[in-house]
Amino acid sequence: MKVGIVGTGMVGSTTAYALILEGIGREIVLVDKDERRAGAEADDLFHAVPFSHPLVVHQGGYADLQGSKVVVVAAGVSQKPGESRMDLLKRNQRVFSQVIPGILEKAPEAILLIATNPVDVMTHVATKYASGFGVTVRRVLGSGTMLDTARFRALLGRQMGVDPQHVHAYVLGEHGDSEVLAWSLVTVGGIKLTEFCTGRGAVYKADDKEHIDHRVRNAAYEIIDGKGATYYGIGSALAKLIDVILNDRRSIFTVSAPTDDVPGIKNVCVSMPRLIGGDGVMGLIPPSLDDSERSLLRKSAAIVKEASDGLDDA
Ligand code: ADP
Repeated sequence: MKVGIVGTGMVGSTTAYALILEGIGREIVLVDKDERRAGAEADDLFHAVPFSHPLVVHQGGYADLQGSKVVVVAAGVSQKPGESRMDLLKRNQRVFSQVIPGILEKAPEAILLIATNPVDVMTHVATKYASGFGVTVRRVLGSGTMLDTARFRALLGRQMGVDPQHVHAYVLGEHGDSEVLAWSLVTVGGIKLTEFCTGRGAVYKADDKEHIDHRVRNAAYEIIDGKGATYYGIGSALAKLIDVILNDRRSIFTVSAPTDDVPGIKNVCVSMPRLIGGDGVMGLIPPSLDDSERSLLRKSAAIVKEASDGLDDA
């Protein structure tokens, strides 16, 4: 099966690398406005093929995306010194005004996976351009808080001494500063966190929560501080999503997509637990949050909504 990647910077090419290592898909097409970069990435990635899985990887134009089941959008521009967040958003909106129609004119059946940051607002922008091609909202999704959720589960698992596979927890809302760690929903082996701790003769303290909250919320800042960008985690998350879609695996992930489920806020793209399968987003799993989490989620969604509306009016 064919997978397209538009934007072959660090995130786009790391996604391709993860696909090759995992043997996901059959053909990867790399598209970038910088054709030399995309060609060089394709050649370099192709050299990983003999050591992993027999995928075909090559550089191409939009026409080569024809027949793609999934197209990752990781194209974007980065913030210039002194540039406001809204000006950056406007420039990225202009990138999407070319990229999304470019993809859908040639691959009208594709599911779009948006990775460009700020991912929630860019998912909103993508759904806007995609709707002009009759694409249903279930076929446009953003990577959202997938990574934050994975980190939350991993940190909880480490603290409990339990394999994170058996820890269920979600990070909801904006992928960013206002994201909400839904502590009231955490279960370990199917048991609520507090009960699990009591059963083990332990107490879960406010300090422990604060420590994990800080590490989840600030992970990207710390990595960017140390090496300038983050890409391994997000590349792996996108490869996993592609595997779930190509194989209709019906997994639940906190991805970003339009929702009216945040009370008082209509049509906003934020992360919620969603069932993902071969057709994209198959449904939202409504989380039963406590009052404080509900209020934090509303605030988080309002931040994304304000930025999205600001762009719509620009
Ligand atoms: P990240 O770290 O998020 O991957 P990069 O800056 O490394 O960010 O990569 C972004 C990529 O998006 C660059 O390779 C850039 O050339 C590409 N890009 C920017 N604008 C467009 C566009 N209009 N069409 C296709 N690719 C684009």
